[in-house]
Amino acid sequence: MNVAVVGAGLTGCLLACYLARRGLDVTVYERRSDPRAGTPERGRSINLAISERGLDALRRIGLEGQVMADALPMRGRMIHPVDGPLDFQPYSHDGEMAINSISRGALNNTLLDAAEAAPGVKVRFGHRLTGLDPATGAMTFATADGETHATADVVLGADGAGSAVRGELLAHRGIEESADFLDYGYKELTIPAVDGEFALDPGALHIWPRGTSMMIALPNPDRSFTCTMFWPTGGTASFASLSSPAAVERHFRTHYPDVVALAPTLVEDYRHNPVGLLGTVRCAPWQTDGRVGLIGDAAHAIVPFYGQGANCGFEDVVVLDRCLDETGGSWARALPLFERRRKENTDAIAEMALANFIEMRDKVASPVYRLAKGIEHR
Ligand code: FAD
Repeated sequence: MNVAVVGAGLTGCLLACYLARRGLDVTVYERRSDPRAGTPERGRSINLAISERGLDALRRIGLEGQVMADALPMRGRMIHPVDGPLDFQPYSHDGEMAINSISRGALNNTLLDAAEAAPGVKVRFGHRLTGLDPATGAMTFATADGETHATADVVLGADGAGSAVRGELLAHRGIEESADFLDYGYKELTIPAVDGEFALDPGALHIWPRGTSMMIALPNPDRSFTCTMFWPTGGTASFASLSSPAAVERHFRTHYPDVVALAPTLVEDYRHNPVGLLGTVRCAPWQTDGRVGLIGDAAHAIVPFYGQGANCGFEDVVVLDRCLDETGGSWARALPLFERRRKENTDAIAEMALANFIEMRDKVASPVYRLAKGIEHR
């Protein structure tokens, strides 16, 4: 039995590790070149909050320790008002519960190493899936040398929100799909280390709630912070509205005054880093013919406000593995079972992630919110 995994992102690499344990021959096809050999893309989600949901999946294949070695636990939110004191809101009453700031690139590389080291797994970089016949598992890839072809007994699309595998299922099997984009985008900015130390408390996820806009910052192992600013993509108050260095500086001095002194490359970051889109992808069914399936963002991309997209992709892998156990390794039964078990949960987190945007950009700053949540001052 040979399985093709399309996409060597977080979900695809973890999936390959799990499938290898079942003794399957797995080929992972990735459109990019090997990320371990190059420099990361500028301004594209440098770090992720990984929670127990994701750690559980890593623990089951012995990778938790390695991943957590460089993680920075964040035990609560630090709210930055426009003026006035900072406000720390712990994630649990005993202050012990934490989510973990982890480098996306390092996590992907660890998973790639693990996948490549697993028996039966091959990774083919520079292979962009351009065609798939769901009935036969025949695939076409664009490579630097032209077109190439391969066939697999089972094809799993772990190729992210813009999934080409999903596109092929749409074209050949008429699956239903919707992609709802917010009129908000995101831009990454940097707060570097100061004299080798963190410029802000590294034990918190920092939030600047500003009603119609918001910024968050997560710590990195090199003692910098990556800030992600969320703002509308069009209109008078939007990323496009700040068209000169002076306008950028003025905006930050007014709305994010404490950031200006901490971010010496603010204007440069703002002008050069891209604006990323934010959307929710829903589709059904996630599989056809018991042979082609979708997993991770390819099946259910969500907006990032709950920090759960990658965590959910990891949980998908655990659940699919369990479905294969329960069906004696029958893909024809395991893929529909996987979808039945996961769909209502991923639909729920998609809704919660949208709702959490309002909570983070607006409600967390309110004293009423503190009272309602029973948050004590520290
Ligand atoms: P992807 O990471 O998109 O990987 C897909 C892979 O498939 C890529 O390597 C791509 O190159 C490859 N590919 C695409 N098309 C093809 C093709 N045609 N042929 C071959 N290969 C292809 N999640 C969290 O859990 N916590 C967080 O804190 C968090 N923060 C986020 C912040 C931001 C700003 C954003 C945008 C997202 C955040 N997420 C977070 C979500 C998380 O990034 C995604 O859920 C996660 O990356 C999904 O992993 P994936 O492997 O399913 O898809």
